[in-house]
This record gives sequence, structure tokens and C-alpha cells, in this order.
Amino acid sequence: MTAFSLDPEQITWCAELRALAAERLKPLAEKGEPGRVNRPLVAALGELGLLARLFDAGALDLCLMRESLAQVCTEAETALALQGLGTHPVAAFGSPAQRARWLPEATAGRAVAAFALSEPGAGSDAAALALDAVPDGRGGWRLHGEKQWISNAPEADFATVFARTTRGAGARGVTAFLVPAGRPGLGGEPLDMLAPHALGTLTFDGVPVGPEDLLGEPDRGFRVAMHTLNLFRPSVGAFAVGMAQAALDAALAHTAARPAFGGRLADLQAVAHRIAEMATRTEAARLLVYAAATAYDEGNSHDTADTAVPRRAAMAKLFATETAQYVVDSAVQLHGARALQRGHLLEHLYREVRAPRIYEGATEVQRTIIAKELYASHRREGAPEGAPYEEEPSPADGRDTTPHAEEPTP
Ligand SMILES: Cc1cc2nc3c(=O)[nH]c(=O)nc-3n(C[C@H](O)[C@H](O)[C@H](O)COP(=O)(O)OP(=O)(O)OC[C@H]3O[C@@H](n4cnc5c(N)ncnc54)[C@H](O)[C@@H]3O)c2cc1C
Repeated sequence: MTAFSLDPEQITWCAELRALAAERLKPLAEKGEPGRVNRPLVAALGELGLLARLFDAGALDLCLMRESLAQVCTEAETALALQGLGTHPVAAFGSPAQRARWLPEATAGRAVAAFALSEPGAGSDAAALALDAVPDGRGGWRLHGEKQWISNAPEADFATVFARTTRGAGARGVTAFLVPAGRPGLGGEPLDMLAPHALGTLTFDGVPVGPEDLLGEPDRGFRVAMHTLNLFRPSVGAFAVGMAQAALDAALAHTAARPAFGGRLADLQAVAHRIAEMATRTEAARLLVYAAATAYDEGNSHDTADTAVPRRAAMAKLFATETAQYVVDSAVQLHGARALQRGHLLEHLYREVRAPRIYEGATEVQRTIIAKELYASHRREGAPEGAPYEEEPSPADGRDTTPHAEEPTP
């Protein structure tokens, strides 16, 4: 495929996914309790083979799944994405024993996964994380501290947990562990959030972990986080595109039918132009997401700029999530009061659309990544003498605190 169009099989697959979401997943989502893991929904994603597909799929397939599900059932989309985020480190970095124990359960939707990077003192600046892994003197560690804003916590059956094994080493002193629920000292509380999916804290009071719980090597945990987030970042944009398309479809249908001033709302040029703008921005976001995912799948082989893949991922995530906010807000405006009634599709989307501008790298962090990578490739290509670009000043301790594409921002 090219970055600009899907092939007929992909178009058919997306239509099938939307039909499955409407017939099989939405009824289960409607029975879920806000803020709690919807286990029947996760199990249905497993039975339909969608969770297994997560681990064979490339970035574009992941985006198509997320966009198609989001268009019809955001709860199913989010359950799928979270299962992928928490399980990808096991699939990519787990030992044979960890993979044998957890992958069949996770792909069947019987075990629920979490990805635990953020902390009260470390969000965008993930390298500041402080969950302390203290050596136990027998080759293992005891974990002390707290994780916050963790999707599926505290109900998840296992979590990929990032902890500090070397103090003062920033990103280089972090290790990833697979921590199953039920370990002594592991706790947590649910948090009541605007979006309906389960999210909470995880607390660690001397939780024992051993070498058999490592995901990857000690002190190389940021590699695990980066590998996972690089794959998932464009797909957050796909989630946003699915929501934008659902809002656009609703606004189109409503404005075409709603009588106003002796005609229909759609007859008012201001309304029709708003619809045109919503559609144009949604399509632009979709193409950026497909281009970023395709670049990831092609491993950058057709691009001379080394940093094109992370830069495109950042652009896609940034533009699509901001666009979805605009499109959903516009759809609310065009519907008037009915959109704000509890239970209306747009009331639901209005709550769902906000968080993706913050998680997996806030909008501002994506801008910093894009600009930094642009200037880096400008330097690599040999800026002419006297070119206006100057290196940004670093703080007095010499530590570069600005986010890079190669650092995880959860
Ligand atoms: C619904 C939801 C689900 C989540 N799920 C998970 C999860 O499963 N696992 C997990 O580990 N985390 C998760 N998170 C946490 C999320 O990753 C963090 O919220 C995010 O990294 C931002 O961190 P913070 O909230 O501490 O904000 P801060 O880092 O304090 O940033 C606050 C704001 O400051 C600005 N800012 C920050 N850095 C910069 C910068 N470099 N340049 C310019 N402006 C900047 C931005 O406007 C940013 O929004 C989730 C969050 C939400 C809302």
C-alpha cells in the first residue's frame, strides 16, 4: 500500500470491524460499570481474535483496528489498546516462561494487563521516576513507591512496572518488571476520572521481584518503554480519528435533518462550512496517522532522515488528538443542547476526547519532539556556515531536560 490509500482488503476489514463493534462489543460495553475493568468486553475481544491480532499486527493494522472500533464503541477500542500497551513488553521482551504464562491468557482476554510508568512526581518527565527497586541481597529487589494514573489499575492481573534500579542515572537507571497481581505488598486504589475507563494507583510496599520477573535487562527499562510507546503513539492518533469521524457523521446527519429558519441547518452556509472544515481536518489527521504507521512498518527504509519515524509519530499523535477535540466540540455546537444530555453520543465523545491530548506524550511534548528532531536532522545535513540555528541552552548541571523522541513520555 501507499501512505495515501488503503487496499480493498483493508477497507473491507475496517467495515467488518465496525460491524463487529456494533453487534458484539457495544452491547457488552453498555453493560459495563464506569471506572471498572469490563471483563466480558475484554473476553469478547479475545474470542473475536482481535487481541491475538494485536501481536501479529504492524502499526498500520493496529491503527485500523483502533480507528474502526473507536468509530462505533470507544470502550472496546480502549480495552483493546490497553491490553496491547500492557502486554506488548511481555511479547517483545519477556522470557519464554513469562510469554508462556501470560500471552495466551492476555490474548484470550482472560488476563487484564496494565502499563505502569507514570508516578505522582514523574509524568511527562518519565526519566524522573522514583519507584525504588532496592536489592534484596539474593539477586532480586524489593519495590517501594507509587504509580499513578495507571489504566486498568488496580484491577489488572499483571502489570509492566518501571522501577529505578540505579539512583541518579536518569533514563539509564530504570528497569522493567512483570509484576503479577497478588504479590505481597502490592496495592492500589481506583481514581474517578472524566473518561469512563478503569484507572487508578498502584502502591508498592516492599513488593518482591526477582530476575525471573525482568522484562529485558536491568537498567535498560527505558528501551522497553520506548519500544512500546513508539508503536502505540500513532495509534493514539487513530483512536482520535475514529472519534472525530463518529462526531462528523453525527453532525452531518443532524444538520441535514434539523429544520431551522424555513429550511434545514445544513442550508446555512456557516453550518455547511463548519462541516467542510471538520471533514477536511479529519481526513488530514487520518492521512498523517496512516503515513506515520506505514513509516513505522517500513522501518524507515524509504526515508533518508533517521528521525522520520518518531517525528511522524509525534506529528500524527499531536495533530489527530487536537483535531478530534475540534471536531467533537464542533459537533456538539452544531447539535445544540441535545448533545449535552447525559447518554448522547456526543456527550460521551466529549468526555472521551480530552485525555488523549495528555497521555502518551502531551501535545506540548510532541511539539518539542518534532522541533528537536527537525533541528537535529538540519544539523546532520550540515547547516550552512552562519545559519541562524543555535543549540538550545542546557540547564547549569548540563542535563538536557527537553523530551527527545527516543525517550518515553507515557
Ligand atoms: C486517561 C489517562 C490514562 C492514562 N494511562 C496511563 C497508563 O496506563 N500508564 C501510565 O504510565 N500513565 C498513564 N497516564 C498518565 C499520563 O501518561 C500522564 O498524565 C502524562 O504523561 C502527563 O503527565 P502529568 O499528568 O503528570 O502531567 P505533567 O507532566 O505534570 O504535565 C502537565 C502539563 O505541563 C505541560 N508540559 C509538560 N511537559 C512539557 C514540556 N516538555 N514542554 C511543554 N509543556 C510541557 C503540558 O501541558 C502538560 O499537559 C494516563 C493519563 C490519563 C489522563
